[in-house]
Amino acid sequence: MPINKASLLVLESFVRQREGKGGRKLRLIFLGPPGSGKGTQASRLSQRFGIPQISTGDILREAVANKTEMGIKAKESMDNGELVSDDVIIGIICDRIVQTDCENGFILDGFPRTIVQAESFDKMIGEKNIPIDIVLSLDVSEEMVVRRLCGRTVCKECKTNYHLEFNPPKKKGVCSNCGGKLYHRPDDEEDVVRRRLKIYKETTEPLIGYYQQKGLLSVIDGTNEIENIFKQLVGVLEGI
Ligand code: ADP
Ligand code: ADP
Ligand code: ZN
Repeated sequence: MPINKASLLVLESFVRQREGKGGRKLRLIFLGPPGSGKGTQASRLSQRFGIPQISTGDILREAVANKTEMGIKAKESMDNGELVSDDVIIGIICDRIVQTDCENGFILDGFPRTIVQAESFDKMIGEKNIPIDIVLSLDVSEEMVVRRLCGRTVCKECKTNYHLEFNPPKKKGVCSNCGGKLYHRPDDEEDVVRRRLKIYKETTEPLIGYYQQKGLLSVIDGTNEIENIFKQLVGVLEGI
């Protein structure tokens, strides 16, 4: 059967994507405070390497919007900037990483966020024999993160992140990627942001030491421009 031009382009792009890392599987975790750029970079790397971005925040927001049982339970914690219970989050990840699109790897954005989650995850991937290749920690100051979150807007449809000042869409209020409507997350108001940062410091930051001890940690300066960080990350990932 003759292969049409569109399929050929898809195939070529797939081969290009896999070439850089010799067709190996790539599994990575993003660490960093809220607003450090995890979602922005994870989304770009997902396209670059052809592996899914798994954002527990996006999965939870979808559940809240659809008023599922999980969404109804999670909503209050999310609105208040508090963490959703470990059991719920571990359940989400356990179901998600066994889906077929994760066969060549995945990018975790926003998980794990507690030591309990990290330990359960280690057990899970140990049993399934799917080791993590690298943990990328984006380093950004607290004040910068507050500025970023207070100006963040997100596409309702494709979840692409923008920033009014640092990463504006081509047309105000409209997603440059899909034309969807942009909105400001209610938990990105300054008082909730400060609470999220406090929880990050107390509960999530210890994961940096946890993964450092395992020899998996790579710290990246998250204050550079989006494109520069992306290039640096691609370099790191192609080198592992
Ligand atoms: P951010 O943009 O700050 O990184 P997310 O979109 O990842 O935020 O998360 C939004 C909210 O969803 C969190 O404040 C928390 O309530 C909940 N959440 C997301 N991931 C987790 C997780 N791994 N553990 C507990 N709660 C989570
Ligand atoms: P996280 O997923 O870690 O919460 P995001 O990727 O959503 O963070 O980024 C938070 C906000 O900061 C968004 O509005 C995004 O457009 C902007 N942003 C992300 N990376 C950078 C960067 N390197 N420089 C300036 N602004 C950035
Ligand atoms: Zn969009």
